[in-house]
Amino acid sequence: MFKLVCGAGNEDCETVKRLVYIYAKAGCEYFDISACKEIFEAAKEAAELAGLKTPHFCVSIGIKGDRHITKAKIRESVCIKCGNCLRNCPNDAVYPSIMINEKRCIGCGTCAKKCPTGAITMFEKDIDVREILPYMVQNGVEILELHIMGHDKKDLEYKWNIINECNPKFASICIDREFFGNKEVLDRIRGMIAHRKPYTTIVQADGIPMSGSDDTYKTTLQAVAMAEIIQNANLPVHIVLSGGTNSKTAELAKLCGINYWGIAVGSWARKIVKEYLNKPDFWENSKALSLAVEAASELVKSSV
Ligand code: SF4
Ligand code: SF4
Repeated sequence: MFKLVCGAGNEDCETVKRLVYIYAKAGCEYFDISACKEIFEAAKEAAELAGLKTPHFCVSIGIKGDRHITKAKIRESVCIKCGNCLRNCPNDAVYPSIMINEKRCIGCGTCAKKCPTGAITMFEKDIDVREILPYMVQNGVEILELHIMGHDKKDLEYKWNIINECNPKFASICIDREFFGNKEVLDRIRGMIAHRKPYTTIVQADGIPMSGSDDTYKTTLQAVAMAEIIQNANLPVHIVLSGGTNSKTAELAKLCGINYWGIAVGSWARKIVKEYLNKPDFWENSKALSLAVEAASELVKSSV
């Protein structure tokens, strides 16, 4: 299974619509979107436009502290207008006037790392999950995914309980090792799946979140390593690789004996079609569209 990750924080309807359209045309059937009704509608419309009969949707949320619910903010008084943030943002979320387009910001933090003056800080943008998640499941979303890289166990418990109450076809846990060692990662997962039926949970083994800017084995190495840790624990879960995933992921995972259920690709999937995504004549330019679909198809095929 290949899953296109549009970005948990990506709330730009037109971008998501274009991305879903390209990847649906390229053979993708799974789409990971933010917990936002308008985004869901845009994604459904794009899948239908592309002629996809059975699209599957996954909605991602995060606990407090997880970078998937953060956004960047620029302190104007400290900004020297060097343009580093504008040039390095992978999601075109910085306007030429050096303002953040919050709807496009996916919280990757690249701009903050590249800022020479410390003008960029990250803030959390939480949502009312009790209102939005039941709506999503009632309207056909099959997977609810919780990103759990934060220390707030109360928030984790609160959101995980709501996901379980919604009773989606699959609940998904996305976890990486930025803050925790292997033991804590596995303890967290074991605690979360204790009362779930076998194989109704997906563990999305995140190598380095939002790091897929290159198509190399090294970039995807940590995703494969993380998947191996989950696999070796023999948990009754499906394993999906993410975080630094690219066209090399499936090959490396197979070489390492990983029995994965799917590969979720975000940064790299968006990067290879970026030049087409922003075209003002996107919907009319059939030549550019077919080039975008061709590029996406190669990636989708490589992930089977
Ligand atoms: S670099 Fe990342 S965090 Fe910064 S504005 Fe772009 S998407 Fe947001
Ligand atoms: S990188 Fe920092 S200093 Fe440079 S334009 Fe962006 S916010 Fe301003």
